[in-house]
Amino acid sequence: IPIIYCPECGEVPVPDDELPVVLPEDAEFLPTGESPLALHEGFVNVPCPDCGRPSKRETDTMDTFVDSSWYFLRYASAGFQDGPFDPEAIKKWNPVDQYTGGVEHAVMHLLYARFFTKALRDLGLIDFDEPFVRLFNQGTIIYQHQKMSKSRGNVIAPDDYVSEVGADVVRSYLMFLGPWEAGGDWSDSGINGVARWANRVWEVANRDSSELDHSPVNENSVRDVQRALHKTIKKVSDDMDGFKFNTAIASLMELTNTLTQAWERSDLTSDAWNEAVSNLVAMMAPITPYLSEELWEATGHESSVHTQSWPEWDESLAADETITLVVQVNGRLRDRIEVPVGIEEDTAKETALTSPKIQPHIQGKNVSKVIYVPGRLVNIVAG
Ligand SMILES: [Zn+2]
Repeated sequence: IPIIYCPECGEVPVPDDELPVVLPEDAEFLPTGESPLALHEGFVNVPCPDCGRPSKRETDTMDTFVDSSWYFLRYASAGFQDGPFDPEAIKKWNPVDQYTGGVEHAVMHLLYARFFTKALRDLGLIDFDEPFVRLFNQGTIIYQHQKMSKSRGNVIAPDDYVSEVGADVVRSYLMFLGPWEAGGDWSDSGINGVARWANRVWEVANRDSSELDHSPVNENSVRDVQRALHKTIKKVSDDMDGFKFNTAIASLMELTNTLTQAWERSDLTSDAWNEAVSNLVAMMAPITPYLSEELWEATGHESSVHTQSWPEWDESLAADETITLVVQVNGRLRDRIEVPVGIEEDTAKETALTSPKIQPHIQGKNVSKVIYVPGRLVNIVAG
């Protein structure tokens, strides 16, 4: 802390042109309970900047909390030489849009960061009141239903897994093993499942799509893959915004399965295949950056996947094909309902029974039978 204690002048700040105060390399660390700097004569004894009398330096150093209370201001202009931060850069980048961290920060670090922000605002150095616009706390990852701790000897070292299955798989697994805010239980079978998915994507993306052009095309299959793709883009986009990384990855796994099955049927165009694969790889880029970058190149793209725009979905392409079901009560037509093609029997019956137009006809009656003729009608027998 750049303060000098003079017997005459009291506490005198180190002059600006002597900052920063560079610490000695040869301080001795002894168990005195005092800062090791206090024992370093060459460091401690200095003349007073004001009157020149023999004086002593402050030997306490600033706590790391001092740094973590305003680093987000400095980060916006890390190379700035004329002050703690460039006011123009602050205007562009701050306040921080999204903060994520452990809930344990709520009582110390975040409080101090807010205090610094409000003090700097009062000094007129910044013009916002809160350092972080949104806060999202992550959960804790446990192991075998227990908190990881050195004393229990149940600490999972990510490095071992990174060397075995790669950083992409470890990262994906951490995102996949539970809701971000809840954390989850680390399991080896879980991480192996994610590793298998990564390998499957590798196979899928490395296939020679021109092979598909030698077999007959089924338009329904093309449409199914296209629909699955656009549904996935929509779902993953929403999930990413909502920090629902686990369900985003589940959707990407599902799309991978859809592609694997389509390849086995070999009944879609290479264009449909290439479009789906490229978008799958692009959506995976924030989750598996290395794998995606490799596959982006392998699928014939130039430049980096990480400079691409996020894929966009088309609502009409994501929509399910629908059919109209006739709903009868005791053989009389009472309603027509729009339902997805291939709706399950139970869902069709439930949709018919809860239809607002049907309700008055069955209210207070005993529904003894519901008959479903797939793709055509639901007949409710009530008396
Ligand atoms: Zn003095």
